[in-house]
Amino acid sequence: MEQAFKIRPASQEQKKLLAQIESEAGTSINQCYQCGKCSAGCPVAFAMDYTPRQVIRLLQLNLMEEALGANSIWICASCEMCSTRCPREVDIASLMDALRRQALVSGRVTDKKVAAFNKAFLDSVRRFGKLFEAGLLLEFNTLTRQFFKDAELGLPMLKRKKVHLLPEKIKGNEEVKKIFERVKEIGGE
Ligand code: SF4
Ligand code: SF4
Repeated sequence: MEQAFKIRPASQEQKKLLAQIESEAGTSINQCYQCGKCSAGCPVAFAMDYTPRQVIRLLQLNLMEEALGANSIWICASCEMCSTRCPREVDIASLMDALRRQALVSGRVTDKKVAAFNKAFLDSVRRFGKLFEAGLLLEFNTLTRQFFKDAELGLPMLKRKKVHLLPEKIKGNEEVKKIFERVKEIGGE
């Protein structure tokens, strides 16, 4: 059952923020006629507090705070199924991405572990050009002050070569670093 919201007229600031998110995502929420095909195809909708269709509806109703605070934008796996299925060519996957970025830069991430994981993941890719799992776990557990979490799993995983003790670098590492620098230049995190 859908939650009832008090609909508020959009302020100039909200309109500007929505326009910015749409521009970053390269899509328009006004194209959406709420058919629900995106939600029906989303493999992780069952775990979201708002389905992809509902996230679009929140934006259409100027409920930006609710959209930015939704766990849906972090549960989204960027698989692009929703964007592929949409009969109105709304790029929902890209909108989810733009909402994630906005939630991060404006400090609206309600679950601090999500922000910590995002930082640890991007740090790892920035440094090594690919994910270094052991480094990610170490940084994530330190940031979230769970110092002994996963400790009992570490040794068996190392023995089975599921994780490596030292990071491997990829050939295009310098190019990956340049991408991160470029993102920073244009105002990204
Ligand atoms: S599939 Fe497209 S039109 Fe249908 S609800 Fe999703 S975003 Fe809206
Ligand atoms: S991109 Fe995200 S919202 Fe869209 S179908 Fe995939 S997981 Fe669901």
